Amino acid sequence: MSSRYDNLLANVPTDLWIGGKWRKSSDGGRFDVLDPATETKIASVASATVEDAKAAVDAASDAFEGWAGRKPRERAEVLRKSFDLIMRDAERLAKLITIENGKALSDSRGEVAYAAEFFRWYAEEAVRAIGAVSRAPASGARIVVQHKPAGIAVLVTPWNFPAAMATRKIGPALAAGCPVVLKPASDTPLTMLALMPILEEAGVPAGVVNVIPSRSSGKVVSTMLHDPRVRVVSFTGSTEVGRKLLHEAADTVVKPAMELGGNAPFIVFEDADIDAAIDGAMIAKMRNMGEACTSANRFYVHERVHDEFAKKLTAKMAALKVGNGLDDGVLVGPLVNADAKKKVIELVDDAVDKGAKILTGGKAPNGPGHFYPPTVLDAVPEGAAMLREEIFGPVAAIQSFKSEGEVIKRANDTEYGLVAYLYTKDMNRGMRVSEQLDFGMIGLNRGLVSDPAAPFGGMKQSGIGREGAHEGLMEFLETQYISVTW
Ligand code: NAP
Repeated sequence: MSSRYDNLLANVPTDLWIGGKWRKSSDGGRFDVLDPATETKIASVASATVEDAKAAVDAASDAFEGWAGRKPRERAEVLRKSFDLIMRDAERLAKLITIENGKALSDSRGEVAYAAEFFRWYAEEAVRAIGAVSRAPASGARIVVQHKPAGIAVLVTPWNFPAAMATRKIGPALAAGCPVVLKPASDTPLTMLALMPILEEAGVPAGVVNVIPSRSSGKVVSTMLHDPRVRVVSFTGSTEVGRKLLHEAADTVVKPAMELGGNAPFIVFEDADIDAAIDGAMIAKMRNMGEACTSANRFYVHERVHDEFAKKLTAKMAALKVGNGLDDGVLVGPLVNADAKKKVIELVDDAVDKGAKILTGGKAPNGPGHFYPPTVLDAVPEGAAMLREEIFGPVAAIQSFKSEGEVIKRANDTEYGLVAYLYTKDMNRGMRVSEQLDFGMIGLNRGLVSDPAAPFGGMKQSGIGREGAHEGLMEFLETQYISVTW
């Protein structure tokens, strides 16, 4: 282990958190967590087995009645305390995220603040699972509608936001009264393990949140989804794995919430404020080094402003400092692992072979570290794979367009529908075009849409359901209607 990280890793737990206790896995199995900047081992983490997964569901089941029975205000106070304690420990958590994920410390700090907000927001929502009473038009009976915690929730999260993708699920689940079993991504299990003592200190009772990293994700998650006590599966990750989990969820009719892949268009109209569009583009493309489902994947720039936009974006991208995310001034860390880097290299090579022009970057340095330089490609041809697939790296693919109708059609020509961005000074056009884009979220003159108070989620194959806002709470609640005469 690198001595540079010793202090940061000294007290980070590496076992399974089940029923409020640290446990080894039932077969003693462990797996290594690597630092993407140096490719060295930073920790060895217990790998949950099917037996451990059953034990975690048992622990959640034991905790369910007590947690669901707490008054909403009590649950709210535990969530609010969790927010305060995460903010108290924000710097330590941010460094941990950078060590295991690679992202620049500034990105990690932003992520911790965003992650903590889900506890504050849902502390406020916990007291607002409001029902309704009305009269049946024909019979005159009362229709009483109320919400109950849905049951045990299995949460499966990706490596790109090791904190926020999990708290975006844990916050509403706990607010609703549901205990959870979380399976974090194998590349980045440490952040969630480090969160557990914080939640315990905040007053989350034993068994309400269980965390089981595992190298046998498929088997472990499948086992839990086939346990009739599990009633919700909330997954964030690739569309490919999301499809598999939807099939699994069908067997026991588990309620699915799916936050899947994206392929965001970023449209710059001829009347846009170009400097504002560049600022937005840098956020939409480079937050998390492009390793975000919301990352701008396809830049469509009107032919009249294309040259100016391409030149300014290239200058900004070329100026970003690449290096170990913990180092001062670094804004672009390494990609998460060797496969991620290989994929970016292949996508760029494919586009260049087909005729795209490299304006900056485009060539990966040798290791160690999964680094890839900020890259701008211009005139990316329609057949390039990067226009169909998520790039998931610091690569901006520019194309030009001539008319509004044409760009709407091209932007919508994808199986994904998570987020689209557009820049124009004409708000009539902005709203008109927004309404015609088949995406769950629109950034209109903004390069960032994520907000705990807003419903985050996608259309088409980008997902089912919403996270954040009141909608996010409803994913963990069942609606019950009582027909009554009094
Ligand atoms: P991934 O490969 O789909 O993995 C996500 C999680 O699923 C990980 O915990 C993984 O565990 C687990 N998993 C893998 N195979 C599984 C299986 N057969 N059964 C059950 N669980 C399984 O995704 P990723 O590469 O970590 O994350 C990148 C993807 O997430 C991108 O497509 C991105 O767009 C998407 N994403 C979407 C959102 C959103 O809100 N829409 C947000 C962030 C990311 P292991 O790590 O052990 O394989």
